[in-house]
Amino acid sequence: MLDTKNCIFCKIIRGEIPSKTLVNNKELIAFRDIAPQAPTHILIVPKKHIPSLDDVTDSDLLGRMMTLAAALARQEGVAKTGYRVVINTGADGGQSVDHLHIHLLGGRKMTWPPG
Ligand code: AMP
Repeated sequence: MLDTKNCIFCKIIRGEIPSKTLVNNKELIAFRDIAPQAPTHILIVPKKHIPSLDDVTDSDLLGRMMTLAAALARQEGVAKTGYRVVINTGADGGQSVDHLHIHLLGGRKMTWPPG
């Protein structure tokens, strides 16, 4: 069973806990990460509770999430200098919230390989 009741991002979507929200439309919400790892650190989240990338069946949804990430990068003024989008997936991927999300990170130089 999908645990939407206790899911932290579902609580943000329902307005039960506060967030610094930048976009809130019918399908997606984007808000600032509570523990930013870069000057710009935004999470792009579908309102539908999809646990991880491994559960995605709607490739158009992913396309819209990525397109929103790029639009937010331009809005934040980091598109010209560059940025990174990340989808941590599963235990080895470092996923800590089991609700699909894209990290948009920018405003500093990223390193590779990631930790
Ligand atoms: P991940 O580890 O890829 O699943 O990413 C989860 C992200 O959610 C982390 O970067 C957390 O800092 C972030 N996060 C957790 N709780 C909140 C919250 N209440 N508001 C905003 N971001 C959060």
